[in-house]
Amino acid sequence: MEISTELEDNVRQTLKKINLNKKEKILVALSGGKDSTTTAHLLKKFGYTIEGFHIDLKIGDYSERCLRAVERLCKDLKVELHVYDIKNETGSGMCYLRSAIQSNKKLKNCAICGVIKKWVFNKEARRLNADKIATGHNLDDEAQTFLMNISKGSPKLSANTGPVTKNVSDKKFIPRIKPLYYIAEEGIKKYSKNKKLPVVYDKCPCALDSYRIQVRKFTDTLSKNEKLNIIKNFEKLSKKINRGSINICYCETCGEPARKKICKRCELMK
Ligand code: AMP
Ligand code: ZN
Repeated sequence: MEISTELEDNVRQTLKKINLNKKEKILVALSGGKDSTTTAHLLKKFGYTIEGFHIDLKIGDYSERCLRAVERLCKDLKVELHVYDIKNETGSGMCYLRSAIQSNKKLKNCAICGVIKKWVFNKEARRLNADKIATGHNLDDEAQTFLMNISKGSPKLSANTGPVTKNVSDKKFIPRIKPLYYIAEEGIKKYSKNKKLPVVYDKCPCALDSYRIQVRKFTDTLSKNEKLNIIKNFEKLSKKINRGSINICYCETCGEPARKKICKRCELMK
């Protein structure tokens, strides 16, 4: 079967598995990279109701190129694009925010950026009345995250992840979906090039998370089937370590859904 058809069929099956409804409003978190660009392209192609959402992180020339790519994509797909300018919203770009946080907390670049982005996605998706948030996470990302959680001794950290978030139901929490959950990175790269999608192929210049880079070196040696085995076995395992529904409270500082009194983002910004 042609690689494009195989990838498209696979994503269709994932969307069917999670019962995604064509009338739901899906906000696609667009970074400008190949994964989220392919996600938006496919959701639109399959007739889902989507809008684009981009966080302009203000990381110099890299962010400028990402912004131009998502603008091009949304124009081509004829979908509305919402841009969240981190400097306008918080007074600083991501580099400055991160260094300020790192001056008293020992945390990796990507971990900080990830917490802030997730917080923005939820808050903005709710403001924009979206039913779901779609991200471009792929099979490689998920296999790496699972292996990282296992080797840190916290497999439970993976328990709520999947092609759709599990065990959280709260009126202020917008569920996240990952349509490319079962697709290996290499296939997405080929697909996006084949379809000539507007993509920034460079990695974020701040992605210096040495632990993930190390785990990636290992997952890069695995075949697609081996990566799928990691995820499928994780799915079997997750039913056993499932903690049941998660108790959500609202952050005392920002009012966003949280697991503790203060959400992870406000904990960082303190
Ligand atoms: P990352 O954590 O950078 O690997 O990104 C994971 C997913 O988050 C991407 O596939 C996108 O869906 C989303 N994402 C990352 N960066 C941005 C951004 N600057 N704006 C909007 N969405 C983003
Ligand atoms: Zn908070």
